[in-house]
Amino acid sequence: MSDCIFCKIVDGSIPSKKVYEDEKILAFYDLEPQAPVHVLVIPKEHICCADAVNEGNVGNIAHIFTKIPEITKSLGLTNGYRIVNNCGEDGCQSVKHMHFHILGGKKLNGTMA
Ligand code: C5P
Repeated sequence: MSDCIFCKIVDGSIPSKKVYEDEKILAFYDLEPQAPVHVLVIPKEHICCADAVNEGNVGNIAHIFTKIPEITKSLGLTNGYRIVNNCGEDGCQSVKHMHFHILGGKKLNGTMA
């Protein structure tokens, strides 16, 4: 999508500090980290949010989860981490290209909301 900031990160027109990339997904450091380690994992395909996942595109999301163990190990997150996905207005999703926050590097706060 031409006006999507994460699609521009995927096509390289906006730079990012990459952690992992393959044909389906990209992981890169969040610009405003909320934890000692804060990485975003996105499907390269533009999927706006969890509400838009369907049988046709779920393979890209499944692929993210098959790669998270490898990505988190490469980040040194051997003692656990948190995966967060914000969806829509009430979920405070600010970038409308589905992404999973991986947060770790310390014992995280136990509250969810
Ligand atoms: O879940 P939400 O949509 O709020 O998260 C978007 C995330 O994308 C934020 O953590 C923000 O810091 C990050 N971001 C980024 N690089 C950009 C734009 C946003 O890392 N160019």
